Amino acid sequence: MTRSYEYVCPECENTVERDFRVPSIVRSCENDCGFDHYIRSDLLEKVEEVPEEDRPDEWDEMDNEKKVYVALKEGVLSLPDLQ
Ligand SMILES: [Zn+2]
Repeated sequence: MTRSYEYVCPECENTVERDFRVPSIVRSCENDCGFDHYIRSDLLEKVEEVPEEDRPDEWDEMDNEKKVYVALKEGVLSLPDLQ
């Protein structure tokens, strides 16, 4: 049985499902957001677990891909999560 993974547009949260697991997929958002990739939804959920005090000052202006890197640095995400 194959399972599917959900990928989210970082801008409008439009989702698509794919039957493979990668950190992000190249895809132009169908809502014309200007983003050309979707990020795996469980990565985005984890990113929100970065504690307030560990977030850079510009957190709110950062795009979700950058937040993923912060989450990695803070140990909220680990490299196997990105596979
Ligand atoms: Zn979008």
